[in-house]
Amino acid sequence: MTIECPIYYEEESAQHWIDAFARQCPHLDVKDWQQIERPEDAHYGIVWRPSAEFFARFPNLKAVLNLGAGVDGILRHPQLPDSVEVIRLENAGMGAQMNEYFAYHVMHYHRHMDRYNTQQDNAQWQVFPGIPAKDFRVGILGLGELGSSVATCLQGLGYTLCGWSRSAKNLDGVKCYAGAEQLDQFLGQVDALCCLLPLTDSTRDILNKDNMSKLPKGAVIINAARGEHLVEEDLVELLNNGHLRGAVVDTLRTEPLPANNPLWKQPGLIITPHCAAQSWLQPSVEQIGNNIDAMLAGQRPSGVVERNRGY
Ligand code: NAP
Repeated sequence: MTIECPIYYEEESAQHWIDAFARQCPHLDVKDWQQIERPEDAHYGIVWRPSAEFFARFPNLKAVLNLGAGVDGILRHPQLPDSVEVIRLENAGMGAQMNEYFAYHVMHYHRHMDRYNTQQDNAQWQVFPGIPAKDFRVGILGLGELGSSVATCLQGLGYTLCGWSRSAKNLDGVKCYAGAEQLDQFLGQVDALCCLLPLTDSTRDILNKDNMSKLPKGAVIINAARGEHLVEEDLVELLNNGHLRGAVVDTLRTEPLPANNPLWKQPGLIITPHCAAQSWLQPSVEQIGNNIDAMLAGQRPSGVVERNRGY
């Protein structure tokens, strides 16, 4: 028996996902949400930024499987029924991409590439003294699927690592801090602050003037989590007054960032278009297929979101 599963993909046609499900999970009949013949029989929805009509069309959903790791958008959806489980992607190829994104940018600052880029603009030839990687301290906000992957990767490159999470962690070679009461201590020893937190009521605006001022002078920020973690005007102030040496942002409060937004021209700021890690077809489809199979067998799937804590 095949199981009909509606798929909703906001940005473009879902055809590449439908084809991948047909190849990898032929027992699941994944179809565009508008082509499901008996909507009342659909229990598992596969979604990326679903519309209100999606939830109205499928009154008997048991779970929605998100085609991404972050669930802040779907949890804020006014039509998401309380009874529906939200299941997110865990890693699904994103850990490796985040490793690359953070390694690239951490090295950019550690190896003075920001300074050499400025020098080149002014036709200057001057060498800055090298710093051993172990003397460049990297701190990761969020030690979940992606943060712990990045911490392990950067530690392998020789950097000194610390991390901060909600519950206490034990990660080899990473000095771990937990909870609001240890945040200041963590921030005080970080040269490159990397944000991989989920967006929740407790983490919104966490990269604010107060917290960023607790970083040592000359620190840098790399945010690939969500735009709402960062108070953009506070970042601009701390870049302009020299407390921060530089920043990289992959996510912004308004996406796409409008062409006339002054952030595009902000000295010291590198902007990338929410591309740090994408949901790759093969591992995502495999994970979603396994999770639907688990639910069909009456088992608990992996990646169930705890709605009251927001991630
Ligand atoms: P995850 O596995 O759920 O990990 C979240 C981590 O944040 C956990 O270590 C958690 O602590 C910690 N945390 C949550 N709330 C906290 C709080 N109030 N105080 C301190 N620590 C807190 O999430 P993930 O899969 O690593 O993904 C992280 C985020 O990356 C996603 O939510 C998404 O927004 C973003 N993302 C961005 C891109 C991109 O392309 N830019 C791509 C994928 C994901 P515990 O371990 O104690 O629970």
